Amino acid sequence: EPAAPTSRPSPGLLLVITGASGVGKGTLRADWLRDQDVFYSTSWTTRAPREGERDGVDYVFVDRDTFSEHIARGEFLEHAEFVGNHYGTPLAPIRQALARGQDVVLEIEVEGARQVRERLGNEAVMIFIMPPSLEELRRRLEGRATETPERIEKRLARAEVEMNQTDMFDYVVVNDDLAQAVADLHAIQQAERSRLLPA
Ligand code: 5GP
Repeated sequence: EPAAPTSRPSPGLLLVITGASGVGKGTLRADWLRDQDVFYSTSWTTRAPREGERDGVDYVFVDRDTFSEHIARGEFLEHAEFVGNHYGTPLAPIRQALARGQDVVLEIEVEGARQVRERLGNEAVMIFIMPPSLEELRRRLEGRATETPERIEKRLARAEVEMNQTDMFDYVVVNDDLAQAVADLHAIQQAERSRLLPA
């Protein structure tokens, strides 16, 4: 009988999606994860809630001291500062979900993604979401009425930096046509479930 192929070390996949602010990650993620039993990791942030955002659903909103205490206790898988606010991924819920056999999805910026790559290596599947162009990204950010012009410029500058740091990612998905981008994410997830690890 042939030897059983080497399977992934954990029963669930850890999928990390990263992409510029305004690239449409949120919509893309919602469409992709609809109708599948995936654990979406709710991040902690020191940012103030936007109109309509719910504590514990969109983010866990905390003050800086609480955030710092969690860093000190090593309770984040990764954390980063983004345009003046702090964001972090709590580790324990992810461990539990993977152990249950659920796929886990993180949506984080590029510095956090780098930390995940360094910490977990190829156990994390890293996907970069690219806008069709910087001009299109600007249009999308300006259409989002929640940001001041100054913050839009900061987010665009950061986007340009992020788009030049794609070396650590396994996949890139261009979010031009939403349905196509969602199909690409499903295909990546399916391919990763079938992947053999090097012996
Ligand atoms: P926003 O303020 O627009 O909700 O998020 C700003 C950026 O922070 C986005 O790129 C988002 O993906 C990223 N982000 C959200 N949660 C986390 C997290 O837990 N860790 C890191 N490193 N980035 C995060």
